[in-house]
Amino acid sequence: MKFAVDIGHNAPSKDTGAVGVNQVREDDLTREVGERLIELLEAADHQVIRTAPKSSTNVTQSLRHRCNVANQAHADIFVSIHFNAFNSRAYGTEVFATSRIGRGIANEILQEICELGFYNRGFKTANFYVLQNTTMPAVLVECCFCDSKKDMDLYDPNLMAQAIASGLIGDLPPMDNDLRTLRVTDNTWLKATTEQSEKLPPSQKVWMKVGKYQVLAALPEEEGHHFIRLQNGTEGFIFAGHCEVS
Ligand SMILES: [Zn+2]
Repeated sequence: MKFAVDIGHNAPSKDTGAVGVNQVREDDLTREVGERLIELLEAADHQVIRTAPKSSTNVTQSLRHRCNVANQAHADIFVSIHFNAFNSRAYGTEVFATSRIGRGIANEILQEICELGFYNRGFKTANFYVLQNTTMPAVLVECCFCDSKKDMDLYDPNLMAQAIASGLIGDLPPMDNDLRTLRVTDNTWLKATTEQSEKLPPSQKVWMKVGKYQVLAALPEEEGHHFIRLQNGTEGFIFAGHCEVS
């Protein structure tokens, strides 16, 4: 999979983050979590696109740059890393998304972070620029509050990055990490189950035309089907009689 990792702010001089307890800068927190997250995703054989501009003339331009980079790279998932700040008394974690797939991912990340002990402020939806202007499922993670002593005492950049990585990739079914070639030899359906395609509603199947596709695959085949994941994240069963995986 291809992840666009958006390290929040860090684009002087107009897009810099909040300042928290003991003068801790959101810029430094998002960078340390983001860099560790990138290492974890790459170690799991995923591709990472960095979206943050090196500098900015205004916030909108900074945000537009982030979306453009992710959109042009055709990333599968966009994840933006931020830390909250409010009145030094608010604390906890919240994760934002708007799309259906984004919501699922956001909830996974939220659960993982809250298992570290952070208060669950819940899944939220908001018209954030990067959620509105990216073309792939996108999430924005407010890891915790940088102006909360309680949160900053609990915060560990390695654990935070691991939690986000687990939310993004942790619960995927065991797949071969190597990209494989799927050759579809007869037009066919990619299906949510191994049932006959006629019995499945349109929402549970995707039409696959004859051709070559780069996929992740779970091997060996089961009940006459291969289980594969396309590079856009769509996964399901495909009848082994209509394709070859090599
Ligand atoms: Zn922020």
